[in-house]
Amino acid sequence: MTHTLLVTGGAGFIGSAVVREVLAASAWRVVNVDKLTYSGNPASLADVADNPRYHFIRADIADAAAMRAAFEIFEPDAVMHLAAESHVDRSIDSPAAFLETNVRGTFTLLEEARRYWKNLSATASPKARDFRFHHISTDEVFGDLSGGEDFFTEETPYAPSSPYSASKAASDHLVRAWQRTYGLPTLVTNCSNNYGPRQFPEKLIPLTILNALAGRELPVYGDGGQIRDWLHVEDHVRALLLVLAHGRVGETYAVGGHCERRNIDVVHAICDILEEMAPQKPEGVSRYADLIRFVRDRPGHDGRYAIDASKIAAELGWRPRETFATGLRKTVRWYLDNEPWWRAILDGTYRCERLGTQV
Ligand code: NAD
Repeated sequence: MTHTLLVTGGAGFIGSAVVREVLAASAWRVVNVDKLTYSGNPASLADVADNPRYHFIRADIADAAAMRAAFEIFEPDAVMHLAAESHVDRSIDSPAAFLETNVRGTFTLLEEARRYWKNLSATASPKARDFRFHHISTDEVFGDLSGGEDFFTEETPYAPSSPYSASKAASDHLVRAWQRTYGLPTLVTNCSNNYGPRQFPEKLIPLTILNALAGRELPVYGDGGQIRDWLHVEDHVRALLLVLAHGRVGETYAVGGHCERRNIDVVHAICDILEEMAPQKPEGVSRYADLIRFVRDRPGHDGRYAIDASKIAAELGWRPRETFATGLRKTVRWYLDNEPWWRAILDGTYRCERLGTQV
């Protein structure tokens, strides 16, 4: 019998890469539950929309009735929960949506997963034993590593700095509590900064590429010295699928690229790649790097994140395949080759497509 994976947030950056990979690499059916907020984009899944193993439900994870229906109708073998409000600056401006989706939404999904899994167990369904609820989270829950040589591990105490990371930390705690208290078979992964194709152009890498191509300023917070640990989205997806298939129930796995870069160096690296790949610059621009502007730092900005991924390496044999140099070049190439995808976002027409999406 075909297995079914219920993915939340599958129209987003990482979720769409998960959906695409599962459909390509397995015989599983994929049910994508997504509210299509500003960052959800059906165009990111245009190539799989007609796949008979792909189903889309436009719904809010905080809507208990809709989540109950999704579990009852599709009877998933596993859940991968990616739906979230994900942008730190938006969380500083308007934190309410972060609590609503990341905390109350995760709580609602957990409750409906628990109810469904209890019913499976009560009817001695073979699905009950193998059911997994995999919660996808961030290394930002651990706070700031500034000034040290340390790395985050699965044992690092939580110390979130922003409304975003606090709401993700809360969701991680809920997932662990549902495992410990109710026995729900959960898995948690905390990953470092992702980059790659189809990332919404508010995040550092796509923002820098698209602003540079348009001859707009390239804003860099503070002195640009903040350090992030970068991982290509496809390496993250491979880690997620390994954890889902072979991770130990109740465990957390830290996922990262061992690839620390200062933000300013990332911006310069993109400018250098664009000099080579897009030498025809906008009028008045002689070097892309001349567009760099240092702007007032983000309040509460964490100085450094870095992951020690040795647990997932030792237990599951996961290692990133992409280096930052190769991954960044491929990413810039993707944005250069896929202008209709990002142009529709910049001019707002991608919203029309969402309005016409059938549930
Ligand atoms: P994204 O913003 O690109 O996508 C989020 C998706 O969730 C969108 O499709 C959106 O429509 C959907 N969504 C939002 N609220 C919803 C709701 N209430 N109900 C249903 N769907 C809803 O985010 P992303 O970068 O793909 O991140 C996905 C997950 O991975 C998040 O949980 C994030 O915390 C985590 N994560 C991201 C990174 C990163 O660098 N991007 C790193 C580590 C972990």
